[in-house]
Amino acid sequence: MNGNQALSSSAKIPVGISSCLMGHEVRWDGGHKANSYILKTLGEYFDFRPFCPELDIGLGVPRKPMQLTRHGLNAIHCVSIDDETKDFTPALCECADSQRRWHEQLCGYILKKDSPSCGMAGVKVRGETMSSEDGIGVYAGTMMENFPDLPVEEEDRLGRPALRENFIQRVFAMARWQKLLELGLSKDRLVDFHARHKLMIMSHDPGSQRNLQKIVAAMNTENLRENAQEYLSQFMAVLRIPATRSKHVNVLQYILGHLNGSLDAGKKQQIIQTIEKYRIGRVSLIAPITLLSHYVNAHSDSNISNSWYMDPYPSALRLQHVS
Ligand code: SF4
Repeated sequence: MNGNQALSSSAKIPVGISSCLMGHEVRWDGGHKANSYILKTLGEYFDFRPFCPELDIGLGVPRKPMQLTRHGLNAIHCVSIDDETKDFTPALCECADSQRRWHEQLCGYILKKDSPSCGMAGVKVRGETMSSEDGIGVYAGTMMENFPDLPVEEEDRLGRPALRENFIQRVFAMARWQKLLELGLSKDRLVDFHARHKLMIMSHDPGSQRNLQKIVAAMNTENLRENAQEYLSQFMAVLRIPATRSKHVNVLQYILGHLNGSLDAGKKQQIIQTIEKYRIGRVSLIAPITLLSHYVNAHSDSNISNSWYMDPYPSALRLQHVS
């Protein structure tokens, strides 16, 4: 059983979510924004923990809607749409701060787009003379400041395959990190974690692989926690960089290089052709990975076969499209 099977069969991954996306009727008008992909597909693997910050700070349903406002160069505030003296900013910040214990156990968070409380980015901000779309929901912003490594995404952006795949990959990576912490932090476990993510890191940002390796190599009993935190921050930042077709081609060729001595000319040619078909967009990434996996497993190359790159998350969620 591989790690993902273990994760999916023994325990779903804890992921926070804006309650209205779960179909809870908590919006200002008593409505909801249930999202069937999130509920049905991601819900098979994620243990959703719904939370509505506006209800948590004592607002009822229905209620007056809120908006973000800015006066001159002053900070952005979240106020009632019909009465700017009703400023909910401190309450929403406190609400996010009070959820720290819960947030630190999560492996991801799905937020409601455009909300002055929950929006991740691009929320409308009303100014004195004109509006802009550069705000962050107050609850979401505080949570992201407190936990900058937490994978966060909005429901709307999950409709875009590359962003969806990137988010899912980060959530599963964070779940493996949390598992490592549960088992107990040690240099050996970090060495193994890095080794199994090396190809994945290369598919996002090849140059970072060495930097991360240096952090692992510099670990000792005195700096273990500090270096592990530094590793996690850099690792999650690397995974946020979009993987591209050309970077994947480099990784596939790297894997092929490991197999070179054990393949006859015909098999090698078949793999080269499949990688080329992927490079020009005629097949998806899963085609060369499946082919390479077959030979990697047959030749017991554990460095590659144990890599999370070959099996990043359950196949039902796998898109591996990367254009
Ligand atoms: S967007 Fe956030 S604050 Fe608004 S209803 Fe949904 S969960 Fe509640």
